Amino acid sequence: MSMQQQDTYFPRRRGLLLVMSSPSGAGKTSLSRHLLTLEPDLKLSVSATTRSPRPGEEEGKDYFFKTTEEFDSLISSGALLEHAHVFGHYYGTPRQSVEDHLNAGHDVLFDIDWQGAQQLHEKMREDMVSVFILPPSMKDLERRLQTRAQDSEDTIAYRMSRAREEMRHFPEYDFVIINDDFDRACHSLRAILEAERNRRNRFVGLNDFVRKLSET
Ligand code: 5GP
Repeated sequence: MSMQQQDTYFPRRRGLLLVMSSPSGAGKTSLSRHLLTLEPDLKLSVSATTRSPRPGEEEGKDYFFKTTEEFDSLISSGALLEHAHVFGHYYGTPRQSVEDHLNAGHDVLFDIDWQGAQQLHEKMREDMVSVFILPPSMKDLERRLQTRAQDSEDTIAYRMSRAREEMRHFPEYDFVIINDDFDRACHSLRAILEAERNRRNRFVGLNDFVRKLSET
């Protein structure tokens, strides 16, 4: 801890919610996972879902995999901050872990769809920063869905049609990144996070700090 940070007047910063949405296959998951390795103070909100795990996905790391009954009881007990029906399955954000991360002074990253982003915006707009990831072309999106090869042909066709629908929601987001180059997209994402961390209204105790500065 630096000398200044020991000062009781040194302003704290409220944690922010970094929400990322995109059509599936636009590279959002790779981008978000890479960002997490670069930013130790950023924690992933791990969602609950009723869909089955894909090969390699781990319980509690990628998702909390639930039955429909279990998911229903999470909804009725108020344990979800938001939830939505996406691609025939339910997805939702557990409330408690988001609160725990924020209370521990961390920022929280959300990989959720436009419906979830809208619900978070209604509840926590002051603390939320939203980024929409676009593919450079529909061909590129289709190629990425095919190389991922974890979904059936039918699912891929369905996801392509849903991609067009999801993309209609880009105007609801603060930022847009066109993911034509992974490193550049990652750089943009980090720049957005860094700039948003310094937004004036996120600081708590700034008035006292500046008053103290002026007195010395
Ligand atoms: P996938 O099945 O490919 O992992 O995710 C499908 C879609 O559901 C993605 O657009 C993803 O962002 C979204 N999603 C994942 N978790 C949540 C969540 O907790 N809430 C909402 N609203 N959407 C989610």
